[in-house]
Amino acid sequence: MEFKNCKRCKAVFTGGGDLCLKCREEENNSFVKVRDYVLSNPHSDLKTVAEETNVDEKLILGFLREKRIRVTDGLEGSLKCEKCHKPINTGRLCEDCRKQFLSVIKKYPVENSIEENVESDIVHKTGSHVRNHENATLSRGRR
Ligand SMILES: [Zn+2]
Ligand SMILES: [Zn+2]
Repeated sequence: MEFKNCKRCKAVFTGGGDLCLKCREEENNSFVKVRDYVLSNPHSDLKTVAEETNVDEKLILGFLREKRIRVTDGLEGSLKCEKCHKPINTGRLCEDCRKQFLSVIKKYPVENSIEENVESDIVHKTGSHVRNHENATLSRGRR
C-alpha cells in the first residue's frame, strides 16, 4: 500500500489522488458551490465568486485549469498562462506557449535520461565510488 501526504492538510492517507478523503469531500463541496454559483451568475468575476461561495480564489482557478468548470464572461481572463501571463480560458498555457512547449518536448524526447545523467553525475562527485566499491565486494562475495 502506498502512503501519501495530503496536498492540503498534510495528513497521511492511502489511495488515489493528491488529497485525503476529508479534503476531497471538502473540495467537492466547494466545487459544487462554485459550479452552481457560476451557472446562475455567469457574469461574476473571480473575486465575487470567491466571496459569495466562500471558496479560495486559488481553488477556483484550479477548477478552471482542470476544466471542471467553464470560464464564464466574468471569469474570463482570471486564468493566466503560466509562462507569458496572457489570459487563457482553461489549462495551464496559452495556445502559443503550448505549441512552443510541445516542440521542445519533441526535440528532447529523452528528457528523463538527461535527468538521470545529471543525477549520476552528482552522485559521482559526492563520493559514490565508496558505495560502488561496497557493491563490488558484495557481488564478489555472492559468487
Ligand atoms: Zn487532507
Ligand atoms: Zn503563454
